Amino acid sequence: MTWAGNRDGELTVGGIPIGRLAARAGSTPFFAYDRDLVTRRVASVRAALPVGVELSYAVKANPMPALLQHLSGLVDGFDVASAGELRHALDTPVPAARIGFAGPGKTAGELTQAVAAGVTVELESETELARVRAIGAALGVPARIAIRVNPDFTVRGSGMRLGGGPQQFGIDAERVPEVLARLGGDVDFQGFHVFAGSQNLRADHICEAQRRTVDLVLGLADVSPPIRYLNLGGGFGIPYSQRDRPLDLAPIGENLARLMDERVTPLLPDARVVIELGRYLVGEAGVYVTRVVDRKESRGTTFVVVDGGMHHQLAASGNLGQVIRRNYPMAVATRMGQPADAPVTVVGRLCTPLDLLGDRVELPKAEIGDLVVVFQAGAYGLTASPTAFLSHPAPVEILV
Ligand SMILES: *Cc1c(COP(=O)(O)O)cnc(C)c1O
Repeated sequence: MTWAGNRDGELTVGGIPIGRLAARAGSTPFFAYDRDLVTRRVASVRAALPVGVELSYAVKANPMPALLQHLSGLVDGFDVASAGELRHALDTPVPAARIGFAGPGKTAGELTQAVAAGVTVELESETELARVRAIGAALGVPARIAIRVNPDFTVRGSGMRLGGGPQQFGIDAERVPEVLARLGGDVDFQGFHVFAGSQNLRADHICEAQRRTVDLVLGLADVSPPIRYLNLGGGFGIPYSQRDRPLDLAPIGENLARLMDERVTPLLPDARVVIELGRYLVGEAGVYVTRVVDRKESRGTTFVVVDGGMHHQLAASGNLGQVIRRNYPMAVATRMGQPADAPVTVVGRLCTPLDLLGDRVELPKAEIGDLVVVFQAGAYGLTASPTAFLSHPAPVEILV
């Protein structure tokens, strides 16, 4: 765990003791993201990837504007999935040509913004091509496009599958040649994007997906305009429970280096090759900090009630698509290093039994006023949670 930082029994984030940080944030609950951990994580990915492979950040994992500004100096590009994310990405120094806009159901308004901005529109359907082409003609700017391909394979080991079989994402691989034949000269065709799975902790499965993606795209190269962009997706996962083993990047880097040397560079010499990651770059760099407001016994179970909950950190409650609920790593941040007391159940303030942050967790004895943190909260936390539910105030986010 990266979060060993502890001074005089207090967790530190970015070198600052948690109590001090809570005072600085002004209120609990809040999210804190550690800038240095993000920097170091990007550096470790860069070190593992072969030279020449670009790294893009998938903004939906955590769209906090200050974090995007920080990341803009570290990554090569951004992957956005809405006009709102696009606006924040364009506010950074990252050039529009390094921004890709994916996602099903892009509206005419969003497509117009994307074409006007000059970002790459990743086509998710055949009708989207006709829409961007018309928008390009109206604006007098050829739309910069790539085709997101729904592959004819699935990625094993993904926590969430976004490719293979019928999908709202991408154009089915077998239909792509026909779409390429209809492209015409009035669009600025860049290449292909395949993103088929998320939260994968198995390097061998990720390697297999990257190999098959390269096969797929090389198979399309004969019927395609020159390929200048090849987005191989990502899906790198992070550990959320004690059963999870961290992903080993070394074999992924080696596999990619081989694919580049033997196949991509010789056959597609003009293609920018991109890996896009969200969760892996920021997920472990964030904590969700709550304060204990109550402690109660009920028929043999001790409940620790905190001032946050699933409305800010839905994933930790197990309600963001998980099949089996497992506790996220947690700590009593004001009692680091103290021995564990009898197991407690940590719940939030929402009037639903779903608002469960820790089910029978072994923690030091947390009293009213103590700070309890949930780790691995840097990705799919606040913006992936139903913040309006119960009408509590929105939490602060800080980048430390
Ligand atoms: C969500 C998304 C990602 C990021 O996935 P992570 O699992 O967070 O790395 C990458 N690419 C696309 C197209 C996405 O929609």
